[in-house]
Amino acid sequence: MRAGFPAFRLGNVLATSFTGTLSERHGNAVERIPTPHRLIDWLAVNGLAVDSCTPAQLDLARELRESIHAAATAAAVQDALPASAVQVINDCSARGRAAALLTPEGKRRWRLGSASSVEDALGVIAADAISVIAGERDGKLALCASPTCRAAFFDTSRSRTRKWCEMNTCGNRQKKARFTVNQRKNPRSAE
Ligand SMILES: [Zn+2]
Repeated sequence: MRAGFPAFRLGNVLATSFTGTLSERHGNAVERIPTPHRLIDWLAVNGLAVDSCTPAQLDLARELRESIHAAATAAAVQDALPASAVQVINDCSARGRAAALLTPEGKRRWRLGSASSVEDALGVIAADAISVIAGERDGKLALCASPTCRAAFFDTSRSRTRKWCEMNTCGNRQKKARFTVNQRKNPRSAE
């Protein structure tokens, strides 16, 4: 990992982990893939290692990211999917030439068409987004309750009542804010 860049937020769902590389979209946005190298790092962490990435490929990645975010947000609130976002997701999915391989240990890994092809990696992410948005997977798309975040996340909790994209960040911040307000209202009861 390279020093001096915002850390990645890692989740279990590839597509929403990817949209999480931009956080606080409605506050002070944090760009977690600010350079082509950081996209290479992110892809490597997520089992999609590529050798190189051009600024144009980074732009394409961000375009896919925001398209997935827009489509997942619409799906979460049961709105019509934005046509332009669907187009970008489909284009990326169709362009990718990755193959799913089964390892001897029974795990799935991805083999990209060529080591330098960011497009192949984006194709895998786009296909993952399609399966989530199409409702093929066990879970439900929801929006983070934090007003500065509003990230689309995939709720796989049994009750489907998860409120925050991440407990460690948005969840804790909301809790802390509520605690501070309560303390101010009633300074004697610190509990
Ligand atoms: Zn959040």
